[in-house]
Amino acid sequence: MAIPEMRTSPWIKVRNSKIHGKGVFAAKRIPKGTRVIEYLGDRISHAEADARYEDHDPNDNHTFLFIVDKKTVIDAGVKGNAARFINHSCDGNCESVIEQSRVFIETTRVIEAGQELGYDYEIGREKDDPPNVDEIFACRCGSPKCRGTMLWPAKRPAPKKSASKKKATRSAKAAPRTAKTAPRKGKSAPRKGKSAPRQGR
Ligand SMILES: [Zn+2]
Repeated sequence: MAIPEMRTSPWIKVRNSKIHGKGVFAAKRIPKGTRVIEYLGDRISHAEADARYEDHDPNDNHTFLFIVDKKTVIDAGVKGNAARFINHSCDGNCESVIEQSRVFIETTRVIEAGQELGYDYEIGREKDDPPNVDEIFACRCGSPKCRGTMLWPAKRPAPKKSASKKKATRSAKAAPRTAKTAPRKGKSAPRKGKSAPRQGR
């Protein structure tokens, strides 16, 4: 059975955010575990997303691409709804949930009226990332747990040679977690998820 589309939501309002541009805020108290809104937009292939943003400024992280799976990317820059304005947070009060190849934003704790919604974008790292990639995706979420970047893992994995020593300690955290939550916010040649393992959590 198809899940009904959730283009709008009585739970939220869009207004300017201290974190970045516009943000999404609770219009009233939202209980934990509430499905707030669907992340909508043009559903396209990775190849189409790449072509569409080929000329995108690499220093601008502001696009609205969300990887659903190996086949599909949602471009909320086209036919998108308010979900595209939900900012990244390293310690967010929401998470993205993929169901029937669609993306829904759900609360992971109670959100009081007026509080901003956020979830962890967990943007995957890639070999061809520009050297200033952490600058481009710098995080200013303000959480005490802020890791300073929207990318995951927080640090660039060490080069292979030196990494061998630390293999055991690195492995758990270094494994790319995403797919589920990584919006492709951004990069000029958006390839997130194509090369990185994206089995989700
Ligand atoms: Zn942060």
